[in-house]
Order: sequence, then structure tokens, then C-alpha cells
Amino acid sequence: MLVCPQCQFENPNNHRFCQRCGTSLTHKPCHECGTTVPLSAENCPNCGAFTGTVWLAILVQGQIEQQKSGEYLDLGRRYRLIESNSSALTETVDSNPSRQVLRGEVIDCQPLQKSVLGILLEQQAELLENSEDSQATNTSLWQKIGIPELAQPYLELQEKFASIPVVHDAWQEDKKEVILIEDRSNWQLLTDWWKDKQASVVDIIAGLKEMASLWDSFAKAGLSKSLLIEDNLRVDGKHRLALKQLYQNSSDAPTLQD
Ligand SMILES: [Zn+2]
Ligand SMILES: [Zn+2]
Repeated sequence: MLVCPQCQFENPNNHRFCQRCGTSLTHKPCHECGTTVPLSAENCPNCGAFTGTVWLAILVQGQIEQQKSGEYLDLGRRYRLIESNSSALTETVDSNPSRQVLRGEVIDCQPLQKSVLGILLEQQAELLENSEDSQATNTSLWQKIGIPELAQPYLELQEKFASIPVVHDAWQEDKKEVILIEDRSNWQLLTDWWKDKQASVVDIIAGLKEMASLWDSFAKAGLSKSLLIEDNLRVDGKHRLALKQLYQNSSDAPTLQD
């Protein structure tokens, strides 16, 4: 299914234009110079502007496995790893000997394609409607339909806190779990914003209040590390607190063997 970027109509995969409104499903205009660019392209061929759709990928694997830039993260060859610094994926601080956690940026080569996670969540909504079991919880349903454990804290908390990034896609295969979230790597650091002369006392207090309410939920869910890493604390365009990702506290982090 290709979801029209203009009217959200769901078109069959072989369509080049939206059946309802006629918008192109293969190309878009470059935001810098207006040249028509394929949706899968990283850069505009005319002016060189970056036109790709980028996600931040987080990947947990039980065994160490090297992944290089240019490779695809998924079997469907939709998400291609892009190189930042020297390698496509770098280890994050919540790695431990039994559970390697890696992070890197990917280009979405089929940005209008519905995500695996989107399809799973629709199934969940149907299951909930038809379920006779009124006790069915989100977590038990997520397990049943195969939503990776890595995605669950995001799904659980993102409705409550706007500062948590939305999960775009998630899947699991063998001993590997992958999630893709909004890439906030280039958003301003909270500490830089606070040092900035424009930050008012009101802004700073609002940020601290948001952190205090996150701390409560995070302490219960074993995610408090997310608030203790300076690089993880960012601000959005309106200078509200935004987390780059969630980190599991190492002591109670679940392993893939659990
Ligand atoms: Zn349309
Ligand atoms: Zn251009």
C-alpha cells in the first residue's frame, strides 16, 4: 500500500499517481530548487540539497554482526544504512555483554509505503474490537502480534509524553530487533539552549517540570538512564524538551534470552 502524502488515500503498490487526488507517488519537488526528485533519492540531482527521508535506527542483537553503510537493514530492501563518521552503526551506552545495542541513520527508499508496525497496530485495533477478553492489555496484545519488545516502551509512553519520539517502524527476525524512530540527532541540545541568552526562566522551569514528570514514569519502567545522558536531551522547534531515544537501565535491562 502506498499512502498518498497529500490526501492519505491508500493506493496499490504499482500506482504512480494517487487514484484519488493525482499526486505523484514516485517523485516530489526539491524543497530548495523545485526540481522533481525521486522519493528514494538521497540528494537533489540539480542543487545537491538533501531530499531523503531519514530515520534513526536502533537495533538489538544477541550476537555481534557487522553492518556496513549502503547495506539494507531489512529483507525488503527498504531502509538503507547511511554512513556517519566512520561506520554506519555505532554501539550505544545501554549495550551489555549479552545484548548489543546499535544505532545509525537510514534512508527510507520507499517513504510512502505503509510500515510493518503500522500494519501490526491496525491488526491490534481489530483484535481489541473483536476480543472477548476484556482484560487484554496492550502489552499482551503486542506480544501476540509480534511487536518487538524494544518498541513497547515507546508505544506505551508516547501518548502520555510528547517528548518521546514516535516509532515509525519495528520488526524482529531471529535474534535481532529493530526499531526506527524520528531522527533528532541534529536538534539543539537542551544544555545549549539553556546556555543561550534567549532561554527565559519560564522555558527552563517548563523543561525541568517535564523532566520531573518523565522521571516518575521512567523510574518505574527502568528507563531513567534516558534522562541522565546529556546528548539525549534536546529541544524541538518550539524549545520544548525532546528526547532523542529511550535507554534501558543496564541492571534490569531484559536480554534477548528472556
Ligand atoms: Zn492523494
Ligand atoms: Zn534541488
